Parts: sequence; C-alpha cells; structure tokens
Amino acid sequence: MKPEENYSLRGYNTFGMDVSARYFAKFTNEDTLDALARTKEWQESNPLILGGGSNLLFTKDVDKLVAYNQIKGIENRGGDDEYVYLHVGAGEVWHDFVMYCIANNYGGVENLSLIPGSVGAGPMQNIGAYGVELKDVFHELEAYHIEGRYFVKFRAHECHFGYRESVFKNKFRNQFVISRVTFKLRKQPKFNTTYGAIEKELEKMGVHELTVKAISDAVINIRRSKLPDPAKIGNAGSFFKNPVVSASQFEILKLKFPEIVSYPSGDDYKLAAGWLIENCGWKGFREGDAGVHKDQALVLVNYGGAKGKEIFDLSTRILSSVHEKFGVDLEREVNIY
Ligand code: FAD
Ligand code: NAP
Repeated sequence: MKPEENYSLRGYNTFGMDVSARYFAKFTNEDTLDALARTKEWQESNPLILGGGSNLLFTKDVDKLVAYNQIKGIENRGGDDEYVYLHVGAGEVWHDFVMYCIANNYGGVENLSLIPGSVGAGPMQNIGAYGVELKDVFHELEAYHIEGRYFVKFRAHECHFGYRESVFKNKFRNQFVISRVTFKLRKQPKFNTTYGAIEKELEKMGVHELTVKAISDAVINIRRSKLPDPAKIGNAGSFFKNPVVSASQFEILKLKFPEIVSYPSGDDYKLAAGWLIENCGWKGFREGDAGVHKDQALVLVNYGGAKGKEIFDLSTRILSSVHEKFGVDLEREVNIY
C-alpha cells in the first residue's frame, strides 16, 4: 500500500480549508488498515485519522499521513425481544446509519438525524443533539492501536463518555483508530420529543401518531431551517461547547444577566454558549471571509476564502470577549490541526 503524496484536503473538511496532506491513504477494512499501519509513512509520525472532516479545522498543511476511514457495512447481530444489536463499520456515514435504523423502525438515534460525519467519529465526542447522546445507544466498539498495531474492544464504561467527551478525545487522544461500533437499538422505540423545538415541529407537520420516522423528519426540518449547510457555507457545526458552571457562579451571573439562557446539569448549570457569544455582539460578524453565522452564534463560518488561522484567531477573540464580559471560559469543541 503506497500513500499518495501532497494530497489536497479541500474536499475532505466541511470548513473547506484548502490545505494539503504530506501523505494520504484510505483504508476500507481491518486488513487494509493493518497494511497501512506497516508503511513507513504511518510509522514515521502519528497519523491523522479522518472521517467526514466535519469536526475539525485545518490551520495549516498536515505534515504527516492522513488516513481516511472508509470501513463500511451494517451487520444485524440479532438481539432479544427488546433490543437489536447493529455492528457498523466506522466509515459508514452517520446519517445513512440513522436512516437504516428509521427504515427498520429501530429506536434510539432518530434525534441524532442529520449530524454530519462518520459513525467512527461519533464516540470520539459522544455526539449529541436534542437530548440524546451516542452513549445512550452504545454497546461496544472495536479500535486499532496506532503504535501497537492490535485490535481491542472498548465497553461503554471504558469509553468514559461525557458531555461531548470520551477517553478517545482525552487520555487516548491519537492512540486508536475506531474501526467498528456496535449499537443497541430498541425494537419498541421510546420517544424523546421534549427537547428544543421538536414538539412544535411535529405539531406543524400535523403528526398525531409518534414514530421514529416522524421524529427524524422533525429533527431534519429543524436542522435544515437553522443550521448552515456546509455544502454552501463552510463550517464545522458548534465551534464551542456549552460551558457548565457551578450553582454559585450561576447565581451571580443570573443576578447580573437575568436573561441568561441556562439548563440545570446535575448540581451545576449548563449555559447556552450561543447566547453568551451573541450577547458579546458577535452574531453575524464578518471579517474578510471568516465570520460568525448570522442565525447561530455558536457556528463559525468560512464564506469562501478564509484561512484556518483566521477562523482560529476569530475563535480566540470570541473566547476573550466572553471571558471579559461573563467571566466564563468557553472551550473549543472543534479539533484544531
Ligand atoms: P472528523 O471531523 O473527520 O474527525 C473528528 C475527530 O475525530 C478528529 O480528531 C479525527 O482525527 C477523529 N476521528 C475521526 N474518525 C475517527 C476514527 N474512526 N477513529 C479515531 N479517531 C477518529 N456534533 C454533534 O455532536 N452534534 C450535532 O448536532 C452536530 N451537528 C453538526 C452540524 C453541522 C452542520 C456540522 C458541520 C457539524 C456538526 N457536528 C455535530 C459535529 C460533527 O458532525 C460530529 O462531531 C461528527 O461526529 C464528526 O464526524 P467526522 O467523521 O466528520 O469526524
Ligand atoms: P437550541 O435548540 O436552540 O438550544 C440552544 C442550546 O440550549 C443548545 O445548545 C442545547 O444544549 C440547550 N438546550 C435546549 N433545550 C434544552 C433542554 N430541554 N435541556 C437542556 N439543554 C437544552 O439548539 P440548536 O443550536 O438548534 O441545536 C439543537 C441541538 O442540536 C442541540 O442539542 C445541539 O447540541 C445540537 N447541535 C450540535 C452541533 C454541534 O456541532 N455540536 C451543531 C448543531 C446542533 P445542548 O447543545 O447541550 O443540547
């Protein structure tokens, strides 16, 4: 297996950054992954594992191997009266997997419809939307150790899933390639429609009987109406995580900013980062081709020719101004390279 040299990544990241990889190769199954791991290009530096490129920002050329995950396949591994187990290649497109579940009336991922990217990147940040997270339907995953060149299984508790977090984003960062994920879906779906605008949208759609398909359609409609389509405007979704603050810090903030948007999170409070950013005046900001989306302040956008460094610098300015006004430190959700 010979990786290609000086390969353009422009079509491989949803920000549309025009950078190149020193080496590029794709793997389509465990054997080609293992063969790639035996090349000098893999071994001379830690490779960057790439899925759909929808949660990363390239700020410069990537001076190493970019390994593009294309392991496909959805295998039904049976189950019982309540659950079905689906063993899914990490290179499957996440939304295609969701559509497979909807078509088979398997419940659990309908609220996660239309999240861009691959199945294998899902556990990385425990993708979540509308009150559901990947961990809610996760059974186990298989991963390949980048240096040791062996496969290992991770059960749910070993992944240390948190709010947009997992062990793969922290302790084991850049150490594993997630190759397949097994999900546990409900045969008799339980619905979760209480979050955000889902109920309103279902009403608007005239839905009287809840189904996974109806919820998925509602989520798709809401997302299409609110979020910039990366095919039209470069972006990587929410650039920052919603910060969680202690109850005492929240009380002080609420006194000073009675309108602050917040949600209880255990003993703490989750703040809507979009509200904080908007209230620092950033919504709709544009400098050159780098900007903050006009409808959703949490999303940084590339109007065409912005450099990754310009988007990154803009994110730093936003971090500083939110810190100055609210004393809250935002954290970037997007992976920076
Ligand atoms: P990539 O961007 O290719 O990679 C992301 C990170 O994971 C990188 O560090 C990469 O090295 C690593 N990685 C990728 N695949 C593997 C693998 N197989 N093994 C090991 N490491 C790997 N996220 C949400 O959680 N909820 C949302 O609602 C949501 N909405 C979005 C909406 C839009 C419009 C956009 C553009 C993004 C949104 N995102 C959302 C972010 C993004 O879609 C998810 O984080 C997604 O899981 C990223 O998948 P990817 O395949 O594109 O990952
Ligand atoms: P929204 O519905 O306008 O809500 C704004 C924020 O408030 C969200 O970030 C959400 O937090 C929080 N929120 C809303 N209702 C809540 C509830 N009942 N309980 C707790 N928290 C609540 O958000 P949006 O921007 O349109 O996004 C809708 C969903 O899609 C959200 O879950 C969001 O995370 C997800 N999304 C994620 C990305 C990404 O790139 N990560 C991009 C777009 C959308 P949470 O974010 O914690 O859910």
